[in-house]
Amino acid sequence: MDRFAETEGKRAHDPLYSPRRAARATATGFPVGEHGEVLAGPVIVGAGPAGLAVAACLTMWGIPYVLLERHGGIASLWRHRTYRRLRLHLPKRYCELPLMPFPPSYPAYPTREQFLAYLEDYIATFGIRPFFCQAVVSAEHDGDFWCVRAVDGGSGGVTRVYRSKWLVVATGENAEPVVPDIDGINAFRGLVMHSSDYCSGEGYRGKKVLVVGCGNSGMEVSLDLSNHNVHTSMVVRDSVHVLPREIMGFSTFGLSMWLLMCLSVQTVDQVLLLLTQLVLGDTSRLGIPRPSIGPMEQKKVSGKTPVLDVGTIAKIKSGDIKVFPAIQSFQQHGVQFIDGKTESFDVVILATGYKSNVPYWLKEKDFFSEKNGFPRNSNEWKGKNGLYAAGFSRRGLFGVSMDATNIADDIVRCWNDFGYERHKRK
Ligand SMILES: Cc1cc2nc3c(=O)[nH]c(=O)nc-3n(C[C@H](O)[C@H](O)[C@H](O)COP(=O)(O)OP(=O)(O)OC[C@H]3O[C@@H](n4cnc5c(N)ncnc54)[C@H](O)[C@@H]3O)c2cc1C
Repeated sequence: MDRFAETEGKRAHDPLYSPRRAARATATGFPVGEHGEVLAGPVIVGAGPAGLAVAACLTMWGIPYVLLERHGGIASLWRHRTYRRLRLHLPKRYCELPLMPFPPSYPAYPTREQFLAYLEDYIATFGIRPFFCQAVVSAEHDGDFWCVRAVDGGSGGVTRVYRSKWLVVATGENAEPVVPDIDGINAFRGLVMHSSDYCSGEGYRGKKVLVVGCGNSGMEVSLDLSNHNVHTSMVVRDSVHVLPREIMGFSTFGLSMWLLMCLSVQTVDQVLLLLTQLVLGDTSRLGIPRPSIGPMEQKKVSGKTPVLDVGTIAKIKSGDIKVFPAIQSFQQHGVQFIDGKTESFDVVILATGYKSNVPYWLKEKDFFSEKNGFPRNSNEWKGKNGLYAAGFSRRGLFGVSMDATNIADDIVRCWNDFGYERHKRK
């Protein structure tokens, strides 16, 4: 009778509420009501590669979960915010998600479309059914459970509440584009866009385009523009390590991993820089100075990943892509650089990176830094009170897989302990 009254009470507040649906939520990722039913398994926020990998590992252990995604489909970064020419930067064996290799027919560096097809296969294989259009707006621990609030874009903005012993944060290192505030940018009459909105150079033929930033995105967008006969320029503000994607037919990443097994970081850096000099030449003569420490040491110290060249350096050498120093200010029809030169442009593409959005919604300060939304210790994947970080180790998809496996194993251990406790109490 009590149970009946409780159900009726909940229905009065939420006509969609049904106890059956609430129970199904724990097993399938279907929506729960607005009242915060406690879920049996973890809540995973973000259905990118990291969230999907955690879900797949939990599925293999028979642990139910709820996977919340703000967009209407999986892997929104790859689907909506990457350019058409994109291929995985690293060889496919370093980008596989747990439990499912890439198809043997895939090339060494799968295309964006192939990666997306692989992810669709992945969710079909493991029966992963994320709950879409659920933008998580807050999550906090109430002493017993994580209380996760999500705005349900599918039903007119209703806020749903999910409560669980475990919270897996898988919203990504690249959740929001970073748009710098450069002097005079609002006065510029041309088009300004972030690289996350760039698809292809097709629409820019004959135009003068400035790409701001020389990370992997900036370098590849510049190459794509130049390949489409666009007058392309690129801003290189800071020093950066550019390495060839392959050295003598071996992937530079694979080679570094192999060398690091038997040599010190400093020695590996010396070898990489020597080989890079042979393949690419001196990049500082092209306006791309190298940092004072080597690429692997820089990665270790600051988490900054070296850029892997797929042809941009050759285009710079041939003069097809011009390199400029940092921007001093924007003008109505162009840009003034810090060396005093000015140049006119029709379009500016800000390849200025991304940031985590964790500080905007997670009410927790011990494990995640409020400053950058990453775990304070870059190799940490486990916080207190059942909090986990999947995909924040700055090691790309390779790190995503390792985090997912560790997190699922840890939840399985707790799950089994609870089962044992429950069994003892009976
Ligand atoms: C252009 C580009 C190229 C890259 N190429 C490579 C590569 O070749 N190899 C490699 O290893 N890595 C690459 N990366 C890094 C890439 O970020 C990771 O490989 C991978 O996408 C990380 O997966 P993730 O699930 O952690 O994050 P994401 O892919 O960013 O997925 C996070 C998901 O969380 C969702 N989300 C965010 N906030 C919320 C919220 N509040 N509520 C609900 N859902 C939310 C997002 O919509 C998204 O679907 C690249 C990145 C970029 C930008």
